[in-house]
Amino acid sequence: MADTTFIRTVLGDVSADALGMTYAHEHLILDSPLIAAVFPHIRLDDASAAISEVARCRDAGVKTMVDAMPCSAGRDVVRLAEISLATGVNLITATGLHHERYYGARHWTARIGVDTLAQLFIDDLVIGVDEFDYTSPILQRTEHRAGIIKVATNGGKLDARDQRVFEAAAHAQRVTGAPILTHCEHGRGAMEQISALAHLGVSTDAILLSHIDKVTDVGYHRDIAETGAWLLFDQGVRQAGNPVPPTATLIARLAESGHLGSLILGTDGARRDLWLEYGGNPGLVWLAADFPTKLVAQGLTDADVRQLLVDNPARALAFR
Ligand SMILES: [Zn+2]
Repeated sequence: MADTTFIRTVLGDVSADALGMTYAHEHLILDSPLIAAVFPHIRLDDASAAISEVARCRDAGVKTMVDAMPCSAGRDVVRLAEISLATGVNLITATGLHHERYYGARHWTARIGVDTLAQLFIDDLVIGVDEFDYTSPILQRTEHRAGIIKVATNGGKLDARDQRVFEAAAHAQRVTGAPILTHCEHGRGAMEQISALAHLGVSTDAILLSHIDKVTDVGYHRDIAETGAWLLFDQGVRQAGNPVPPTATLIARLAESGHLGSLILGTDGARRDLWLEYGGNPGLVWLAADFPTKLVAQGLTDADVRQLLVDNPARALAFR
């Protein structure tokens, strides 16, 4: 951990050593009119439900979570700060932009220049996230700063919108040193994302690729690891009913080839039916409480599990 500096949470900067067990791609608040209307199964609008769900995770040892919803797509930094204060769990909020489906083609984020977009990301990271999440003509910056930059593509090919968002995100990354969290649609497009960001001057070790364990080809994952980027496996919680979760098998195969040092974990738990507090299963706590047993059954040691949940995220989430 040679040049690790700090990790930026909504309640302030913490040293990497203080991070503890970390869920690296979560959804705690997801509250926008578009999502409520079009994607009601991922509407997360209840802060007290989030406090209870996060408290269950805390009681299983979780100390830090990344909320992966970026600008103007249901993010609410005020409620995230409230959840963090109530539970004692560090929360990291994102700037950047998600997939176009959470905005619509004519949204303002698709119509402003790259420099303006980059400046909005930088101000979230350096000054504080807007209380109204860039959805109102009134800008009211809070003291809660973003700690990561989100981008998304629709697979392997970057379209014109993706290219603009990547340029703005890369600029904000170079200025602030914040890590970049990417959404890989159906797990695909990781290599193209890495290559696009690297061309824009982002160091590969600042790139965290989500959802890629939807792809079960281990060669794909080894190729990603060889670039120096982070593999963020977040599908395990959907496999809780499976005695041998495919994500655990994939992790064991990456362990065989010496790639555990590139792996971090999360739940991507946006679906209400994954939350105990919304009446679903197995609960976000499953990753901390049950998944380690599945990994050990596949031959990993307790030290390996600690590396995935504690040591690696402390490096991946640090500002460079
Ligand atoms: Zn997500």
